Amino acid sequence: MNECIFCRIIKGQILAHKLYENDNVFVFLDINPYTRGHTLVIPKKHYQDIFDIPDKELEILIKEVKKVAELQRDKLKVKDINIFQRNGLLAGQEVDHIHFHVVPRYENDEVEMLPRGQYTGKDFEEVIKLLTR
Ligand SMILES: [Zn+2]
Repeated sequence: MNECIFCRIIKGQILAHKLYENDNVFVFLDINPYTRGHTLVIPKKHYQDIFDIPDKELEILIKEVKKVAELQRDKLKVKDINIFQRNGLLAGQEVDHIHFHVVPRYENDEVEMLPRGQYTGKDFEEVIKLLTR
């Protein structure tokens, strides 16, 4: 069975630019960064995505994401940072092991986030109905 690439990175079977790790998380540089310092934060246990990871583990993970953002703010001297996470093929998830991207932003870094659209017809009201709790 082919083990996922992030699990292999955690085990040290594939070299990664590790920044640090602890009992729960592994933190390393993305080798194809959006910007200088683009970091990935992953749980050491394999969970596929946001639906798969238990709430308690997610809590630990997102707190670590905040620590990485603070680290970037303090050490890279940035004040603007994108944090995102992808679930599934259509969302662009390339490795099926949940991971958060922490991307420091710089003046004129020319990184563009996804283009935005507009609702048409009654779709806006329909979506609100569907998603309102
Ligand atoms: Zn994995």
